Amino acid sequence: MKQKKIKIQMPVKKRIALVAHDNKKRDLLEWTAFNKDKLKDCAIYATGTTGRLLEEETGINVKKLKSGPLGGDQQLGALISENEIDILIFFWDPLEPQPHDPDVKALLRIAVVWNIPIANNRSSADFIFSSALMDEPYERILPDYDSYTERIISKEEK
Ligand code: PGA
Repeated sequence: MKQKKIKIQMPVKKRIALVAHDNKKRDLLEWTAFNKDKLKDCAIYATGTTGRLLEEETGINVKKLKSGPLGGDQQLGALISENEIDILIFFWDPLEPQPHDPDVKALLRIAVVWNIPIANNRSSADFIFSSALMDEPYERILPDYDSYTERIISKEEK
């Protein structure tokens, strides 16, 4: 059966979320220093500690949320589902368990649900940032979730 799709327009001025686990913060700071000029044309959101370091080291204006383990990842997930974030750059640490691992999984999941580009390492971030689509409006294609939210639950299943 052909599934209905919807399209969401991404603005030219992209709204970017930046997050890095502690062992990856240096990596992200180097990447942002290299891409500082491009980032200045974007609206930047970050979890608390990542955001503070970004401001201190690059001078970029950052909308700082709570620290990741204190709810910042969940705040980003909420912003993504409200169509307030266009791109997620999230350098998570593959070698250390985190106290907020469920939140990390939830953030990655919701980014896939809403089909936003995600970079989880420097080379992926480089590929996203060098894409011609960075300077254009872009339509994200999504499944039509209305049929999901309007689904009928029969009395027997309740
Ligand atoms: P932080 O959070 O930027 O506050 O360190 C990052 C995270 O672990 O999600």
